[in-house]
Amino acid sequence: MLRIHNSLAREKQAFTPIEPGKVRMYVCGLTVYDYFHIGNARTLTVFDMVYRWLTAAGYQVKYVRNITDVDDKIIDRANKNGEPIEALTSRMVAAMHEDCDRLLMLRPSAEPRATQHIDNMLGLIGDLVTNGKAYPASNGDVYYAVREFPGYGKLSGKSIDDLRAGERVAVDGHKRDPLDFVLWKAAKPQEPHWCSHYGEGRPGWHIECSAMSRAELGETLDIHGGGWDLQFPHHENEIAQSEGASGKPFVNYWMHAAFLNMDNEKMSKSLGNVFTTRAVLDKLDPVQGGEAVRFFLLRGHYRSEINYTWDILQDARGALVSLYTALRDVPPAEFELDWTEPYAKRFFDAMCDDFNTPMAFAVLFELRNEINRTRDAKLSALLCALGGTLGFLQADPAAFVQGEAAGDEAAEIDALIAARNEAKKAKNFAEADRIRDEIKARGIVLEDGAGGTTWRRA
Ligand code: AMP
Ligand code: ZN
Repeated sequence: MLRIHNSLAREKQAFTPIEPGKVRMYVCGLTVYDYFHIGNARTLTVFDMVYRWLTAAGYQVKYVRNITDVDDKIIDRANKNGEPIEALTSRMVAAMHEDCDRLLMLRPSAEPRATQHIDNMLGLIGDLVTNGKAYPASNGDVYYAVREFPGYGKLSGKSIDDLRAGERVAVDGHKRDPLDFVLWKAAKPQEPHWCSHYGEGRPGWHIECSAMSRAELGETLDIHGGGWDLQFPHHENEIAQSEGASGKPFVNYWMHAAFLNMDNEKMSKSLGNVFTTRAVLDKLDPVQGGEAVRFFLLRGHYRSEINYTWDILQDARGALVSLYTALRDVPPAEFELDWTEPYAKRFFDAMCDDFNTPMAFAVLFELRNEINRTRDAKLSALLCALGGTLGFLQADPAAFVQGEAAGDEAAEIDALIAARNEAKKAKNFAEADRIRDEIKARGIVLEDGAGGTTWRRA
């Protein structure tokens, strides 16, 4: 029985999908104007973990993650670069896929782009205007009238009056209430625009997600996810739009991933404390890096903030290498995953308790210890299978432990080890030590064991 912390209810609840055995999940994706940073990577990886776990638990999941490919930041960046918007966004979508692949994320079932759903957005805006929840203003914009939606504020836990007192909302003569938000923006010169009943313009950001989730998944979703910061105003506005149009509940379970911080401050472009995911990956060993970053991002519970430092990342890499080392030393036996096995059951229960990855990973480390002690090939297979449900431990263990020294360098190191063995046999210890030092200088550690000498990256 899966339990999920629902941000709307502010508590963990038993998960019951709309259709038995099936899950409709929508996650707010990226605005594609630049490479995504390691904070964005956290939210993306958390929902990849959720997607994988729901699948492992037996659900058939339709996972939709949108791409925002028209917005102020995109328009500014394209102008600055002197390139067409479409060239910038295609380049950034390709880069996003590369980086997500390196972090071992599965592709969502669908990745709708805003510019492909303009008609659906206009359809939804039309419904809202017809039922009195939205109004065209004299400047050509169309606004949502928050006072017409009684539930406004239910996700963020604020009333409209609190919000008005707390936010310094600029008074805008075209809006009936300062909290009213834009659904359709009148065209400005030199900006991309589409024809509509309200004149030429482009959609606001919030309407995208309401329109694309309705087109892909229907009026009510099982799970809607995003980063913590999206609760207000973005998700509050999505609720107002979707429920305002359909009169039905929009989302049964809202999930929000906590921030990744740097020096205890949110990593964000506006604070200028940003590391792009690709810059971080490029500094790491190419064989180990992607999975190590994934491990770092999922080692904390998704509702706890995590801190990014180079040392913490290296520590996560070392922990992952230790799991692979157990798999290398005790090759997994033929095996079928049985969730009633005690380790498997604890892993399962942890993951079904609001995706408790820290507890699930603790089970993996206990398993590692027992494998190292007992050299039980069935437990080794269990470790590999449990890790696999979350996208871990599927690489070749020997190659992973060795890291980038695989391939040609591996052959050279094997040759040096053979030469050292010869020297030792000939009792030429000075030569054996010299070779050992040469190997060490390459950043390789030798491990002499009963079965011969193995090696790994320091
Ligand atoms: P943005 O491109 O800023 O709209 O962010 C895309 C996604 O990444 C959203 O779901 C954000 O909530 C999330 N996000 C942005 N910064 C962080 C961060 N430092 N930690 C975790 N998630 C973040
Ligand atoms: Zn959204």
